[in-house]
Amino acid sequence: MQIAEHIYSTHIVEDQSTFGAMHPGGTQIYFVGDPNDNMVIVDTGEPYRAWTKQILDYHAELGKPRISSILITHGHGDHIGGLDRLQQVLDCPVRCHPKLEPLLTQRLGAGCVQKLGSRETVATGGGNIFRVLFTPGHEDDHVAYYMAKGRVLFSGDTILGNSSSSVRNLKQYMSSLDLMARQRPDLICPGHGQIIQNATQRLQWYIGHRQQREEQVIAAVEAGAKAVDEIVGRVYPRNLRKNLREAAARNVRTHLAKLTEEKRVVENSASYYSAS
Ligand SMILES: [Zn+2]
Repeated sequence: MQIAEHIYSTHIVEDQSTFGAMHPGGTQIYFVGDPNDNMVIVDTGEPYRAWTKQILDYHAELGKPRISSILITHGHGDHIGGLDRLQQVLDCPVRCHPKLEPLLTQRLGAGCVQKLGSRETVATGGGNIFRVLFTPGHEDDHVAYYMAKGRVLFSGDTILGNSSSSVRNLKQYMSSLDLMARQRPDLICPGHGQIIQNATQRLQWYIGHRQQREEQVIAAVEAGAKAVDEIVGRVYPRNLRKNLREAAARNVRTHLAKLTEEKRVVENSASYYSAS
């Protein structure tokens, strides 16, 4: 599907009973550049044959343009799964965050993978240029790509089309959202879910959503909640489903880690319980 001039995507719909539950709205693999000239691919999906086949079929549908590089947003399995096969068939360099490079070099062989630099520009074909934005938070090795023409942000898993994202380091994540917002994108092409038209508004929503949660967590702590479960009980609805309750607890922990790092809450010695 063509999204804008020189931006194409193949949308992989997932089985809602398995991975689809983790990726509402499926997965997007982007081809950027001029199909008559050369292009880059952003991410490579899960390692499943059907996924890789869909990506290669789409490459054929575009007229088999020369792929000048495969750009990786981060090292999660649903973004680098198809890499081995695609790199072999398309015979092009792979670009990724320096932290991910050793792993991918081990997999693909010496000389196949090149580290990206922060703020580096990468030519995508068709006269378009990506600016590399190091955006840790969802994962340490996360990279987003910004194309000034059309004001398009390829956000990886930092911003998703149909849901909020999971966060490993919230302090870094908030800085990354800020960096993205400063580009003032009009369009966001996320790793999963639908293309986002009102990009700046969505970024503000993401930032506001986390800030609001942080205020709620602080309020719960100030009101005397000490354990994660107690904080979850105060911040989230009481009738939360069990799997969502676990996600909520993880989320509260990332907030507490940020607040601890900022010395706004103090962690006291943990309690220990028998595991049996
Ligand atoms: Zn993902």
